[in-house]
Amino acid sequence: GNASRLAAINAITGAKPTSTEMPAPLSEIWASDVFNLARMEESLSKNAFKAIKKTVDTGALLDGATADIVAAAMKDWALSKGAKFFSHIFYPMTNATAEKHDGFIITSPEGNAITEFTGSLLIKGEPDGSSFPNGSLRMTNAARGYTAWDPTSPAYIMNTPNGATLMIPSVFMSWTGEALDKKIPLLRSIAAINKEAKKVLTLMGETEIAPLNSSCGAEQEYFLVDEKFAASRPDLLLAGRTLFGASPAKGQQFDDHYFGAIPERVQVFMQDFEDQLYKLGIPAKTHHNEVAPGQFEIAPYYEAANVAADHQQLLMTVLKNTAKKHGFLALLHEKPFAGVNGSGKHVNWSVGNATQGNLLDPGNTPEKNLNFLLFCGAVIRGVHKYGPLLRATIASAANDHRLGANEAPPAILSVYLGDQLEKVFKDIQNGSLEPSVCGGVMDLGLSQILAFTRDPGDRNRTSPFAFTGNRFEFRAVGSSQSVSGPLVAMNTMLADSLNWIGTKLEAELAKDSDHTSAVFAVLKELMELHGNVIFGGDGYSEEWHKKAVEERGLQNTPTTADALPAFKDEAVRALFEKNDVLSPVELESRYEVYSEQYILAIEVEAKLTIDMATTSIYPAAMSYLADLTTTINSASSAGISLDNSVANSVATNADAMMKAVAALSKAIQVHEFECVEGHMRYCADTICGLMNDVRGYADTLETIVTDSEWPFPKYAEMLFIK
Ligand code: ADP
Ligand code: MG
Repeated sequence: GNASRLAAINAITGAKPTSTEMPAPLSEIWASDVFNLARMEESLSKNAFKAIKKTVDTGALLDGATADIVAAAMKDWALSKGAKFFSHIFYPMTNATAEKHDGFIITSPEGNAITEFTGSLLIKGEPDGSSFPNGSLRMTNAARGYTAWDPTSPAYIMNTPNGATLMIPSVFMSWTGEALDKKIPLLRSIAAINKEAKKVLTLMGETEIAPLNSSCGAEQEYFLVDEKFAASRPDLLLAGRTLFGASPAKGQQFDDHYFGAIPERVQVFMQDFEDQLYKLGIPAKTHHNEVAPGQFEIAPYYEAANVAADHQQLLMTVLKNTAKKHGFLALLHEKPFAGVNGSGKHVNWSVGNATQGNLLDPGNTPEKNLNFLLFCGAVIRGVHKYGPLLRATIASAANDHRLGANEAPPAILSVYLGDQLEKVFKDIQNGSLEPSVCGGVMDLGLSQILAFTRDPGDRNRTSPFAFTGNRFEFRAVGSSQSVSGPLVAMNTMLADSLNWIGTKLEAELAKDSDHTSAVFAVLKELMELHGNVIFGGDGYSEEWHKKAVEERGLQNTPTTADALPAFKDEAVRALFEKNDVLSPVELESRYEVYSEQYILAIEVEAKLTIDMATTSIYPAAMSYLADLTTTINSASSAGISLDNSVANSVATNADAMMKAVAALSKAIQVHEFECVEGHMRYCADTICGLMNDVRGYADTLETIVTDSEWPFPKYAEMLFIK
C-alpha cells in the first residue's frame, strides 16, 4: 500500500534544507584542491617548473628526473591536505570513471611508517584491467592494463566521507599499448587537428602558429528527486528511469518551470554543489531551472577539450554525491520520465589557438573571415560526411528515448548556420559572392555580413548541430554521456576536412590565385558536395523527416540498433586510421563494448519491468479488485445493485498486463543470435515493444486502482514535491 508513500510525502514537505556553512568567498576556495601550475610554481625549482610547464602546454614528454621532483611536491601538497591515498583516475569505454586507490604509506624495516611517491608511481599505475570492458582487445588471460598520468590535466584532492585522496587523471591502455579508454583517442584527435590546421593556416599565409586545441563547454541537464521517493522506485534506483508511471494531471505544459524560482532546498544544494566544483577548479558559470518540473541545468565555462572532458566526468560525480548529501537522487538519465522533457548535454565546441584565436569566431576583419569560412566549411563537410558517426557516438538505450521526441533534436544530423551565414555559404556555392563578380567591394561586403551580432532570438532550438555565434553546439548528446566520444568524432572529422581543404587549397594557390579566390573556389566545391546538410527550418517537423531522407540523402537512425553499425563503415574506419586516432581493432572494440551496453541496458529494464509488474502492480490491482468485489457482493445481498465496470476494468487490465509480462518473459529467453546487430535489432524491435505493452496496462491501472493501494510514488509526487 501507500503507507510509505504518504510517510515520504509528509517527511519531504516538512523537510528543512540541509544547512551548510556560510559560502566562502570565491578567492578562498577557487581551485584550492587542485595541484595546478600555480601551485607547482610555488613548490618546484625554476628548472623543474619550466619542464613541467612545457609538458602541460605542448604535450612534450616529461623526463624521469623532473617526474620524481613533481611527484615529491605533489605528495607533500597532498599530505598537507590530509590525503593518505592516491589514485590514478581513468575513463574506461563506459560513461563512468574508474579508480584504484593506493596508500602513500610504506613501512621501514624498523616498523616505522614513511610515505613514498616516486615519479614512476606518478606516471604509471597498474590496475587489474580485466574487469573493465575491452571489447576483444585483450585476451582474458592477459589482464594487465596500464594507467599513466596525463600531465595536461591537473591532479586534485577528492574529499569523501572516507577521507581525502589525491586523484591523478590518467590514460588507460592495454599492455600492448592499445587504448582502452576515452582519453587516449581524445588526446590523439587533438593532435590530428593540430597537424591539419597548421597546414591550412600555413597555406593561408600565417607565419606564427601556436598549438591548436579544441574547446568544450558542456551544459548538463539533470533531474532531482527526493531520495525518500526514489527509495521505493526500484526502476529509478536500478535503471535510472521510471519504467512505469501515468502522466500527472498537471498536463504537459511545464513551461512555467523554465527559469522559474528554484525551490529553497535545491538552492542550498546548488550552492554547495558549485562550491565543491570551485574547489576542484571547475568554473561553474550558469545554473537554472529547466523545462520540466524538477529539472535543472549547470553549465561550466568552456575549457580545453581534454580538461573539459575530465571536468565533465568529475562534475557528474560531484553532482550525484552532493545531491545525496542533501537528500536528493540526481538523475542523469536522458529520459527518466516518459512524456516529460528529457535531459541532454549540449556540447559547445570550437577550435583555436593563442595566435589565431578562435577559428570559429567570424571576427570582423576580412582576412580572419577567410580562415573562419574555411574552418566553418570544414565543419559542414565533416557533419555531412560523418553524420552517421556523430549519431553513433551518442547512441544509447537511454538517449533513444529522447532523440526525436518532441523536445529533443531529431536523430537526423543536419547543420544550422543561421540566416546570415547560411546565405554567405549559399552565395559562395552559387558564385554570386565570387571575387571577380564583386570586385573590391566583396571584402567589405563580406566583413559586414560576418561581423554580425549574436542574436539569441535567432536561435534554432530544433537543430542537433547549430552554429551559435563563435562555436558549434552539438545538442543531441545525452545527459549521462561522456563528452569524449562526441569530441573525438568532431575533432577527427574536422582534421579530415582540413586535410581535404588543404589539398584543394594548395592546388588552387598553385594556379596563382589570390587567397580570396582560392578559398572561394574550394568552398564552392565543398558546398556542392556537402551543402545538403545545412538546414535552417524546423527539425521537429514531419516534413523535414521526410525531406531529409528523400531529397537530401541524410540518414534518419532512430535507434541505437540503427546507429551503432556506423562504427563499422569503411569510411569511418579509414577516418580514424588515417588520422591516427583509433586503429581498426580499437574501433572494433568500441563497437563491441557499446553494442553490449545497449543490449545489457534493455535486458535489465525488461527484467525489472517483469519484476515490478508481477510483484507489486498485479498484487495491488488484485487487492483493490478483492475490495471492490466484496463490496459489490455484500451490496448485492443487501438488495443494492452496484455498477461493476470499475472492477471489470481492473480485472481486464491486470489480466492483459500479466499476458504481456508472460510474452516479455518468453522473449528474453531468446539468446541465439547470428551477430550482435541481430541481437540489437531484436532488443529495439521486440523487447522494447513488449515492455511498452506491459507499461501501457500498468499505467492504466494506476489511474483506476485506489491511491491507497498504489505501490509506487507517482509522477506528480516525484516531480513537484521538493
Ligand atoms: P545556452 O544559451 O546555449 O543555454 P549557456 O550559457 O547555458 O548557453 O552555455 C553555453 C556554453 O558554451 C558555456 O559552457 C560556455 O562557456 C560555452 N562556450 C562559450 N563560448 C565557447 C567557445 N568559443 N567554445 C566552446 N564553448 C563555448
Ligand atoms: Mg543552456
